[in-house]
Amino acid sequence: MDWEEFRRWSEKAANWGADYRQNLRDRPVRAQTAPGEIAARIADAPPETGERMEDIFADFEDILVPGMTHWQHPRFFAYFPANAAPVSVIAEYLVSAIAAQCILWQTSPSATELETKVLDWLRQALAVPDNFSGVIQDSASTATLAAVLVMRERALGWQGNAKGLAAHPAVRIYATGEVHTSIDRAIWISGVGADNLVRVPTTGRNRGMDATALEAAIELDRNAGLLPAGVIACVGGTSTGACDDIAAVTEVARRHGLYVHVDAAWAGSAMICPEFRTLWAGIDGVDSLVFNPHKWLGAQFDCSVQFVRDPAALVRTLAIHPEYLRTHGHDGIINYSEWSVPLGRRFRALKLWFLLRYHGLEGLRMMIRNHVRWSEKLADQFAAEPDFEIVTPPFLSLFSFRHRAPQGVDSDEHTQRLINAINNDGRIYLTQTRVNGALAIRFQVGQFETTEADVGHAFHVIVNIARGRNP
Ligand SMILES: *Cc1c(COP(=O)(O)O)cnc(C)c1O
Repeated sequence: MDWEEFRRWSEKAANWGADYRQNLRDRPVRAQTAPGEIAARIADAPPETGERMEDIFADFEDILVPGMTHWQHPRFFAYFPANAAPVSVIAEYLVSAIAAQCILWQTSPSATELETKVLDWLRQALAVPDNFSGVIQDSASTATLAAVLVMRERALGWQGNAKGLAAHPAVRIYATGEVHTSIDRAIWISGVGADNLVRVPTTGRNRGMDATALEAAIELDRNAGLLPAGVIACVGGTSTGACDDIAAVTEVARRHGLYVHVDAAWAGSAMICPEFRTLWAGIDGVDSLVFNPHKWLGAQFDCSVQFVRDPAALVRTLAIHPEYLRTHGHDGIINYSEWSVPLGRRFRALKLWFLLRYHGLEGLRMMIRNHVRWSEKLADQFAAEPDFEIVTPPFLSLFSFRHRAPQGVDSDEHTQRLINAINNDGRIYLTQTRVNGALAIRFQVGQFETTEADVGHAFHVIVNIARGRNP
C-alpha cells in the first residue's frame, strides 16, 4: 500500500468511526444474526491475488458490521462495560500507526517512562499508597495469573519454576465462590490445581469472605502439612458485585504470612471517587491488586492495571534473561516485560494519558457518580412496581431484579424468556445471572455515552415487554 492510499483509507476509517459512534442509538445493541450467517458470506479460501480496498471495505460494512454486538452503544447494560472513550480511540490510532513493541526500556523509552508516570497518576487517583508500583497488563486474567505465580513461588521458597510442584506439599490458595472464573483458570495454569483452591464461605449483605472461616481453613491446612500461600479477595464480583472485607481478610492473611491479591477489575475504577473507597477499606495492606481501566474508566481494551507492593517478587517470579534481551549500560531502568506473563506489549499507556488529560479526574468522577445514581434510581423504580422485585440491591451501578412469573409458569423459564425477548427487541441489551440458584436479570449502568434518558428508556422497554405490551 502506498502512503497516499494509506492516508486516504486512514481518513476513511476515522470518518467511518465517527459516524458509527455518533449514530449508535439507531442500531440494535446485540447482534440480531443467527449462528453461521456471517461465516456463510466469507470466502472459504484466501485470495491468490490482492483485492481492492474499496471491495474489502465494502464487505466490512455489508457483511461484518451487522454481525457486531455494539459494546459502545449507550444502551448497553449487559456484562460490564468495555468503554473506549473517543479520546482513547484516537490514542489507539496513533499506537497502531507506530506499532512499537514496548517490551524493554530501550525498545521504546517513552512507552516505559509514560507507563511509570500515568500509573503513578492512577495510583494517586485511587488513593493507593505510594509504596505501590504499577504495571499495565493485557487483562485482569493475566494480572491475577501473575499474582498467583508469585504466591506459589513465595510459598515454595522460589523453587517452583525450577523444580515444578511435585517436590513440595500442595500449595493452597483461598477465595470465596463469588470470584471471577479468571481465578479458577489462574489456579489451573499455575499448576496449583482446582482442588487446592479453597472456597471460603461468605457472610453478610455483601457476600464477603468470612474472615473467621478463612483463619480456620488456613490452620486446618497447615496442620495437615499443606502450604497456605495466598488469598484472592474480590471487590465487586462479576455476578452481583460481592465484596470482601479487605481489612479483615488482610489481617488474617498477614498474621499467617499469606500473600493477598485483590480483584477489583470492574469496581476499581469507581475508587477515583473518595466516597466509594470505604468499599475497599484496608487496600493499603494488600500485596497486589488489579483493576481494569478498560472496563468502566474508558481506556480502550486492553488496559488492565496491576499495583504491587513488591515488584521485586513479581520480577523474581517472571523475569527471564536471554542475552538478546539484555540492555547493557543502563542502570535503574524498568523492563516491564519482566513484570508480566506475555513478552510482547503494546504502547498501552498512551490512551491512559490521553484519557486522563482530556477528561480530568473530575470528568471521570462525574460519569461514575451519574451511573451509580441512575442505577439506584432505576432499582427504586422497579422496587415500586408490584410485579417486579429487586434480587440484589445496587452495588455501585450493578443490581439484579426479577419480573414475577404468571401463575403456573416456572420463574427461571419466565426470566430467561423475558431476557431473550428484550435482547431480540434490540433497543437495550442486558444479561442474566444466578442468585442462590435462581435466575435473575442483571443490570449495570456504565457505558461511557449513556445518559439518564437512556436508563429511563430501559425501564420502559423492560416494563412494556414484561407486561406483554408493544412498544
Ligand atoms: C471482567 C472481570 C475479570 C476479567 O477481566 P479480563 O480483563 O477480561 O481478564 C476478572 N475479574 C472481575 C471481577 C471482572 O469483572
